[in-house]
Amino acid sequence: MAVSLPIFMDYQSTTPVDPRVLSEMLPYFTQKFGNAASRSHVFGWQAEEAVEFAREQIATLIGASSAKDIIFTSGATESDNLAIKGVADFYKDKGDHVITTATEHKAVLDTCKRLEKDGFRVTYLGVDRDGLVDPDDIKKAITSKTILVSVMLANNEIGTVQPLEPIGKITRERNVLFHTDAVQGIGKVDFDVQKMNVDLASITAHKMYGPKGVGALFIRRSKPRVRLVSQIDGGGHERGMRSGTLNVPSIVGFGKAAEIMRLEGKEESKRIHALRERLRTKIASALEEVYVNGSLEHRLAGNLNMSFHFVEGEALMMAIKNVAVSSGSACTSASLEPSYVLRAIGAPDETAHSSIRFGLGRFTTKEEVDYVADLVIRKVKHLRDMSPLYEMHKEGIDLKSVAWAPQH
Ligand SMILES: *Cc1c(COP(=O)(O)O)cnc(C)c1O
Repeated sequence: MAVSLPIFMDYQSTTPVDPRVLSEMLPYFTQKFGNAASRSHVFGWQAEEAVEFAREQIATLIGASSAKDIIFTSGATESDNLAIKGVADFYKDKGDHVITTATEHKAVLDTCKRLEKDGFRVTYLGVDRDGLVDPDDIKKAITSKTILVSVMLANNEIGTVQPLEPIGKITRERNVLFHTDAVQGIGKVDFDVQKMNVDLASITAHKMYGPKGVGALFIRRSKPRVRLVSQIDGGGHERGMRSGTLNVPSIVGFGKAAEIMRLEGKEESKRIHALRERLRTKIASALEEVYVNGSLEHRLAGNLNMSFHFVEGEALMMAIKNVAVSSGSACTSASLEPSYVLRAIGAPDETAHSSIRFGLGRFTTKEEVDYVADLVIRKVKHLRDMSPLYEMHKEGIDLKSVAWAPQH
């Protein structure tokens, strides 16, 4: 089967809407277009019923004991902001300390930076070479002033899946709230807010084959009851925690996407894992000096972050421009700074500058994988053929021992 170009291999940046999701959404634009807050007529009731159904679907996917624990937002950036700022605001008399990790998404890191400006103290824990945080480090970092620990479920750049269960045990024992940015792992890896003692969880629809611009925050309502200060005030929607007319069609789609994930996510991950391994082994067996960034064992099935030494990531991306991938992080690729996630796992400059993130997903085919593998192999060889550094490397010169003349 021939592949059609361009090929999308950037599933950690976003995902296409599943056609089954779209068809659930469509009636809510034109026929059932009511405002879910309208209590006086059938249009409103219909919309409200649809929203509550979606709330159930999402709660079920993550193991929440009640659909009331789910609050709809505009996406995970807002959910992260609401969780972290909202909790910090509410519990500021109890403590002023938050713990997170160096490899969190910017929506968490920049929110924490804002808290620091407002007088809170934040501990950014390091991770190991695989990108894993050590639960013991969290235990040691907790003080009597700690109010919140925030650790992501799976990393968006290198796919590392964090050990949330042991972390949740610690935070529960120490009476500290536990938030997770669960965006990348939802429905793809084990995740259960009860089993993992998660108190707040951020989710977004567009990373799981739902529409963009809709997300949710799980806020535990019992054992313990989590309180927070709303960040958007208005009509008192979502039990006062997030005002604003609900985006009903998108919420309906989000619910459907969650249901599909619950029913098919496990099997799908197996299939995607096999494709990912096919891509990895093809490339790794044809090229020398290629390295996988992040853990192979504790990793999202659909993530392959690889470095191709003696090749600039940006140059390789240009060379395979019919294939949509990202180098470094999609969110910061406007800058040429190497990714902070690769820095955090101790990747040397060469590795950080030559990394490409391949993101595989629901609609990735074997033919696409084979096409991409062959193309990457060909282009990397070509780019290396033009590289004097690679030439020197092949001649056995240790590049680290070379005294370079100043460039400026
Ligand atoms: C995409 C992403 C976000 C941001 O989600 P939006 O819904 O686009 O705001 C947050 N965290 C992680 C880990 C992500 O991958």
